[in-house]
Amino acid sequence: MLYTSTRNKSVRVSSAEAITHGISADGGLFVPETIPQITAEDLVRLSEMDYRGRAKAILSLYLTDFSHQEISDCVDGAYADGKFSSDKTAPLHKLSDGSHVLELWRGPTCAFKDMALQLLPHLLTVSASKAADGKQIVILVATSGDTGKAALEGFKDVPNTQIMVFYPSDGVSPMQKLQMTTQEGGNVAVCAIEGNFDDAQTGVKKIFTDPSVAAKLAEKNKMFSSANSINWGRLVPQIVYYVSAYCDLLADGEIQCGDPINVVVPTGNFGNILAAYYAREMGVPIRKLICASNRNKVLTDFIETGVYDRRRDFYCTSSPSMDILISSNLERLLFLLSGMDDAKTSAWMRALSEQGVYDVGEAMREKIQAVFCGGFCDEDGTKALIRDVYETEGYLCDTHTAVAVQVYRDWRAKTGDDSPAVIASTASPYKFSKTVLAAVAPDVQAADEFAMVDALLAKTGFPCPQQLIALKSKPVRFTDCCTRDTMEDAVLRAML
Ligand SMILES: *Cc1c(COP(=O)(O)O)cnc(C)c1O
Repeated sequence: MLYTSTRNKSVRVSSAEAITHGISADGGLFVPETIPQITAEDLVRLSEMDYRGRAKAILSLYLTDFSHQEISDCVDGAYADGKFSSDKTAPLHKLSDGSHVLELWRGPTCAFKDMALQLLPHLLTVSASKAADGKQIVILVATSGDTGKAALEGFKDVPNTQIMVFYPSDGVSPMQKLQMTTQEGGNVAVCAIEGNFDDAQTGVKKIFTDPSVAAKLAEKNKMFSSANSINWGRLVPQIVYYVSAYCDLLADGEIQCGDPINVVVPTGNFGNILAAYYAREMGVPIRKLICASNRNKVLTDFIETGVYDRRRDFYCTSSPSMDILISSNLERLLFLLSGMDDAKTSAWMRALSEQGVYDVGEAMREKIQAVFCGGFCDEDGTKALIRDVYETEGYLCDTHTAVAVQVYRDWRAKTGDDSPAVIASTASPYKFSKTVLAAVAPDVQAADEFAMVDALLAKTGFPCPQQLIALKSKPVRFTDCCTRDTMEDAVLRAML
């Protein structure tokens, strides 16, 4: 299996190279040249395995330059016993309307990013051993919250890697900040940056592509790599849990093999829902992929009209991980649906960066609509949904999951399609305690983040991840704050 670039089809690299480099030199994203197929018999066989067994089987179809032993070691390391607070790793919770919430937040940092970022460091070290000439890997991350912590936790004490995370000093929640500044591990560094997420992101990109920094790293036998969501090594672990969810429905007798399901995903950068699309194209019987957005509904509009237009107001919402107007992974879908047309894909991406808008035309729009539907949920709707699900079934959704559940309800009411649905749940409600508490107990006052967690736990009794409570007593290790201009020094100081 070789990988090509969405912007240049003559590129052909191994999965190890795709994962080591993260992005193609032409600016395109790596995609596998063909999509491996699984049959109904395969699904039945997989349904008899545990999560790790399923992950090994799926990964080996995509990472054909990895040995079985390598894949096995990577998966066993990532999803080892005790790392996730469920022996199913990503368990399903059935709601009374018959839909199934896929809990992707049982990992160490309580957000779905763990599903990929626990595995990526293992994939990257094996990849680097094949494609990086024995160089040590240095990961730089700019984060708006969840990715930074999940990446730190994933790369912590992984041999031959170092990681440095920059977060905007005023742009993350108190809980997210504490999660990062108390990070343990001998190969990690965390630094605040004065400014917003864009400043952090721009600064990281500049250092990443600066040849003089690369030369300094090379002198020490080190090289940069990336852990952000366009790396194929983050996408492939996400395909696994959609296959696994179908297998769990089979094993639980909720469906017969071949029965179609619908999948609902709260979407930001389009990585998670793209993984579901790959699962569908592999042969998992998925009818519709329902793309749920918050008030930043650029994707809802795109799926409806075929026009992607980022020239609009940006809103800060209670589901911040979906506050995004440029969904990078959409590029991969456009490439696939256009019949791997690299010229067209490049032109759309150029139009997006130069004019802020592109139109894929009627034929592409029809192809998109044959598989995807879009919908959105505003702030009031998000809170009302959290409250309703809690009061009617005692289940607590986080804000991102709430958007998905509401969009699913609207879609089902409109279409009457009541096939079994899997709804991706992307964070623990305790990561967004302020909004969740306001939704289920509007009259309760709480002074700070931990008081909110306590109040939410007291009110609902819904299990609270121990690692969030434990933050209260962890020593803060990282207090540095730099500016755009001093970021490079901070990197060289910490990473050389
Ligand atoms: C990252 C994130 C999302 C968005 O996922 P994409 O793959 O970027 O579409 C949704 N919810 C939460 C909690 C996240 O951290």
